[in-house]
Amino acid sequence: ASGVRAPQHATPLEALKTVYGYDAFRGDQQQIVEHVVGGGDAVVLMPTGGGKSVCYQVPALVREGTGLVVSPLIALMHDQVDALVANGVHAAYLNSTQAPDERARVERAYLAGELDLLYVAPERLGGEQTLRLLERGTLSVIAIDEAHCVSQWGHDFRPDYLALGGLADRFPGVPRLALTATATPETHREITERLRLPEARHFVASFDRPNIRYRIEAKSEPRAQLLSFIRSQPEGSAGIVYALSRKSVEQTAEYLARQGIDAIPYHAGLDAATRARHQSRFLREDGVVVVATIAFGMGIDKPDVRFVGHIDLPKSVEGYYQETGRAGRDGEPAQAWMAYGLGDVVQQRRLIQQGDGDRAIRQRQGQHLDAMLALCETVGCRRQNLLGYFGQASEPCGNCDTCLTPPETWDGLVPAQKLLSTIVRLKRERNQAFGAGHLIDILRGGSTDRIRKMGHDALSTYGLGADLSEQDWRSVIRQLLARGLLVAQGEYGTLALSEASGGVLRGETPVPLRRDAIGRVSRSGGPRK
Ligand code: ADP
Ligand code: ZN
Repeated sequence: ASGVRAPQHATPLEALKTVYGYDAFRGDQQQIVEHVVGGGDAVVLMPTGGGKSVCYQVPALVREGTGLVVSPLIALMHDQVDALVANGVHAAYLNSTQAPDERARVERAYLAGELDLLYVAPERLGGEQTLRLLERGTLSVIAIDEAHCVSQWGHDFRPDYLALGGLADRFPGVPRLALTATATPETHREITERLRLPEARHFVASFDRPNIRYRIEAKSEPRAQLLSFIRSQPEGSAGIVYALSRKSVEQTAEYLARQGIDAIPYHAGLDAATRARHQSRFLREDGVVVVATIAFGMGIDKPDVRFVGHIDLPKSVEGYYQETGRAGRDGEPAQAWMAYGLGDVVQQRRLIQQGDGDRAIRQRQGQHLDAMLALCETVGCRRQNLLGYFGQASEPCGNCDTCLTPPETWDGLVPAQKLLSTIVRLKRERNQAFGAGHLIDILRGGSTDRIRKMGHDALSTYGLGADLSEQDWRSVIRQLLARGLLVAQGEYGTLALSEASGGVLRGETPVPLRRDAIGRVSRSGGPRK
């Protein structure tokens, strides 16, 4: 039988109340829903927890036909659909993990006009098969979730998204919405252009998450710092800690567990049953801390996550914003904490240099990293910096580390000159280059085997920097790297001058540095006066 799904509710508000049990729309929801119900296209930029789902689900329940939802998160489709079905909505999905007979059943239900919502993975819309199926039925609205994935230069590009612009021609007259929780002004432009939404109305909510307190401290002993941060949180707080590698995830979770924290690992290398068990413990029990790679958290709907920690530097501000945004979706106070150090900068520059992208891609990755470093090293309000990145102006927030304890700065010109001239001498006189560790040994007048063997104690800068601790030097080097006054090269992160280094050597470029805040486990960096 073929048919068209009849409207299930007379008005948006009635749908909102009966299906979701909410009393009223929030923020821009009502305007967005009315615009789409009236047949208009929309681009919706709304932070995580803002309530994007209602914006496309309600129109699908009020308009005739089936709402198509394009979502890249196959792993979540099942849960999302289950939750809708539990609320009495006729929802289903089509993706590659499905058995053929299950797929056939969903296709029949769609053609018979039995579905309110149909979730489809983007890769299915690249081919004719699914498009022809959809054409044989009737769509009420097309929602493209995580629309920033269409941006080739963003942090989360998915090639399958490029084909989604074609939906404009295939389904003329069906209102389309693009939704995302992270978009710079540039990505916003790309979404509008590539998804072919020239006539769309744009709804841009504030990206501010005022209940999240941001704190970024210098890395000295990351696990101990993390532990002291977690211990400073109220008893029973649920949290997510992000690390870059699976190994670091495992080791950090074990370390925390040994210290009495209810910590469990989560990464793609664990078997599906373990992952499911850990995720469900995190969702259902109190005070569980998940240590995870960035694979964890996408679309996880746990409103009372009290903190998000990073023990490695995220690759972009978008990533940082998205990950920290998983804290405090209930609006109650929450913490975003990160420890970041010299090693992070060197490692990420290396990953970019050795990556397989072409020059333009590496350049864009470098820009992402630079913006992330600027956020880490800012002496101004973190939130102002973060929102500024997304093109939103704001005042200092009073709820981040730099607002609460303005960082002291000190004049780093002379130490920077000592370091740079050591690098220059080694290069000119001996054609050698070294990483931070050895250079610090030279400056501090260390007597390591390597120094003796290489005769580096004969350099004129040997021991000239003994007034600073090793930690101080790492802070100096990290900040010079972050500002491009120094570059790290090659597999070993050997340090070299940049084009901008000359100004420092000549004393023309001032080098104000921030005195590092390091959590309770350690002293603060920078020279004591
Ligand atoms: P997003 O996709 O933007 O992150 P969701 O659609 O998952 O946000 O909604 C975030 C949370 O807000 C959910 O727990 C949802 O139930 C709740 N919510 C959404 N809209 C409303 C509303 N109008 N009234 C009350 N709660 C709402
Ligand atoms: Zn602030």
